[in-house]
Order: sequence, then C-alpha cells, then structure tokens
Amino acid sequence: MYRITPQLSEKIKHFATFPQTGVSLRQMVMFGQNPTQGTLFKASQFLSEELPIRLAHRVKELEELPHNLSDMPSIIRVKNWYAQSFQDLVEFPNKEMTPRLKDMAKTLSKQSDMQALPENSPNLAMPNGSNPNGRKGVSLSHSAMDGVEWPAEVNTYNEKFTKMIEAVKRRHDPVVTTVAQGILEFKQSKKSHLVDTDVQAFLDRFYMSRIGIRMLIGQHIALNKGPSRKDYVGIICTKTNLADIAQEAVDNAKFICEDYYGLFRGPEVHVHCKKDLEFMYVPSHLSHMLFELLKNSLRAVVEQYGTECDEYPPIKLIVAQGKEDIAIKISDEGGGIPRSGVPLVWTYMYTTAPSQHLDPTFDKSDFKAPMAGFGYGLPISRLYARYFGGDLKLISMEGYGTDVYLHLNRISNSDEPLP
Ligand code: ADP
Ligand code: MG
Repeated sequence: MYRITPQLSEKIKHFATFPQTGVSLRQMVMFGQNPTQGTLFKASQFLSEELPIRLAHRVKELEELPHNLSDMPSIIRVKNWYAQSFQDLVEFPNKEMTPRLKDMAKTLSKQSDMQALPENSPNLAMPNGSNPNGRKGVSLSHSAMDGVEWPAEVNTYNEKFTKMIEAVKRRHDPVVTTVAQGILEFKQSKKSHLVDTDVQAFLDRFYMSRIGIRMLIGQHIALNKGPSRKDYVGIICTKTNLADIAQEAVDNAKFICEDYYGLFRGPEVHVHCKKDLEFMYVPSHLSHMLFELLKNSLRAVVEQYGTECDEYPPIKLIVAQGKEDIAIKISDEGGGIPRSGVPLVWTYMYTTAPSQHLDPTFDKSDFKAPMAGFGYGLPISRLYARYFGGDLKLISMEGYGTDVYLHLNRISNSDEPLP
C-alpha cells in the first residue's frame, strides 16, 4: 500500500500554503491555439507548479475533516491517491529534464511577470523559483515565449509529461465513488443518516476542485495529442452548437429512461433552440448537465403518470440567448417537489430513487450515473455550471411540475472558482 513519508508530508504542507491560480475558459483557449512544442512545454511547467498546489490543498483538507471523517478507510485511500499524484508531479521535472531544459525552464520563469523569490528563503523555493506570496513562476500566457529557441529534446519531455498526467488522471477516476463510499462508512460509524452542512460544504469544494484539476489535465492531454476536430482547442469547442448537444442529451436520456422503465415510448422532449446558436464551452460538461437534468424530468413524469400512460405531457427545453448569458430552462409536469424537500435535492446522496450500489470500477472516466439513485446528479451538475461562472437553479410547483434553470456564462472570462 502507498504510504506518505514524513518528508513528503512536509512538502505537501508547504505546497498547501501557496494560493491556487485560476484559469478562465478564454485564457485556456488563447493559450492553446496552434500550440508549438515550446508552448506545450510552458504549459507543462505551469501544470508542474499548479497541480501540486491544488493537490496539496486537497490532501490537507482530507486530513482535517470534521468528526473523524478523515479516518474512514475510503477517505484515506483517496488522500493517498492525491499524495501519490503530488509526488509524481513534483519529482517529474527533476527526473526527466535534461540540464539544458532545466536552464530553459529557469529562463521561462525569469521572463514572466513574477516578483523575485527572496534570496534568504531557499526552503520556500518552488521548482521554478516562484515566490510564496501568490505569483507563480510560470503563467499561462505567451509573453515569455518570444525569441526562445527550443531544442529537440523538448518533444520527448512533452510526451513523457503527458503520459505521466494521463496516469494521474486515471488514478483519480474512482474518486467520486470512493469518497461517496467514505461518507457511507462515516454514516455507519455514526449510526446517523444526517450529512451535516460541514460535510456538504466539503464535498462541494472537493468535487469542484476535482473538476478544475481534470479540466487542466484533460486540456493539456488533448493539446498534446495535436490538432483534433475543427473548432476545438483541446477539449474546448469554440463553436459549441447548443441545439445539437441538447438533442443528443435528449436522445441519450430518453433511451435510458425507456430502457429502465420498459417503455415503448417515454415522454417527449420538445427542444426550442435556434439551430445556429454557437458559443465557447466544453461540450462534455454541457452534455453531462443536460443529460442529468433530462433524466430527472423524465423520471418525474413517468412516475407521476405511471408506466402505462399512452401520452405523457411533454418536457420542454427552452434556450434563451442573451448578451451575457445563455439560459436553458427545462420544464416538466412531473408533480414537482414539496417545498421542504427542495434544499435536500442539492445535497449529495439525497435521492428518492432506489439506491444504487456504489461500484468504483464502474466509475470509468467521469461520474456517470444510470437513470437515478446516486443523488449526485443535481449537485454535480451545479458544480459544472458554476465552474465556468454559470449556475443551476430549481423551482418546483408541488402538484404540478419542476423548472430547472441552467445559466451559462457567455463572456467566459470568469476565473475558475478555487476552493
Ligand atoms: P438522483 O436522480 O440520483 O436521485 P439527483 O441529484 O439527480 O439524484 O436528484 C435528487 C432528487 O431530486 C431525485 O431523487 C428527486 O427526488 C428530486 N428531483 C430532481 N429533479 C426532479 C424533477 N424534475 N422533478 C421531481 N423531482 C426531482
Ligand atoms: Mg438524477
């Protein structure tokens, strides 16, 4: 089993004192357009500093959870993954960089707009000479790239670095289900079903941070794989077509619904969206949110009208396009939620469906639930929305139906929320 050595633990504590640096969607796109090996190297330098800082914050938090939650076996497993990935990341440049690349990396961080590290604090030094007051050595901008000539070995380094962070991403695939398992262990040990607000707030921070880390890693991997589909910069699509994504989510959710309830024909979903509405977004995030919301509405309608119903009232998906916002409303006539129950729907693991068995091996890439039963659909979708400066709201009319409002920020210059 992986063990955190005292030295590593010290190092993690030190990195956790640095503030995390947010990146906006727009910044990621600007940086990732037609990347050269030099750009990719610079991005790897940024990640070599930023990811360990983010991981260290999470290790620290996992160690300091309230009410012995930190002692649950599954929580310890997750903490060890974070520590191991931290170690992989901080050790990598030293192991894999040639002296020449090390020099170039130093030049890079000197050229960027940072303040110098105080000479008398050598043990506070970061790999690229950042200072502990916030500004880090390498930022995601092109400013320090001018006039640099890159030796051929930079390709090899970039490839190896990409492989390493791919392995890190894979290691963390089962994090959501394993943390959920940890919460169950905790509930059993306390013999209580209440997840208090501290734990709720922790999960929001923890999963939000995970979305950010996976976004940065996913983006870097995609950029290193070379130019992909048209209009894509990494995993960001600069012309995400909302009508197409919505229709795909409708088809997928309907398929799952009909399969789950054994229906010949489930409720219809009417999509009202301009066919040419395009905006910059991460299509996989958008699909995830719409899919989860549609499954909820489909389930509510089917359970309200029964599986024998010939004609269900249709669900409406309406898209409004403003200057600031793209707003998507999903309205169903599934009977709504009692007012007292509305706050609960945002809590993790709250579900009125038969509970699903937690199976970490099932958690292949990102968290994907079947029809219902994990109680993660709404809270995780809200995190995805908020990650790029949007939001998700739910209004219920008990006895009639539910409206959910998904707001997506069009300007896309808001920095990541960094818990
Ligand atoms: P899950 O779908 O796994 O139960 P969610 O977080 O997606 O988890 O939803 C939590 C709960 O909120 C659901 O179990 C259901 O009781 C309620 N809910 C969500 N959306 C709707 C809706 N459109 N109509 C009625 N109830 C809903
Ligand atoms: Mg759901």
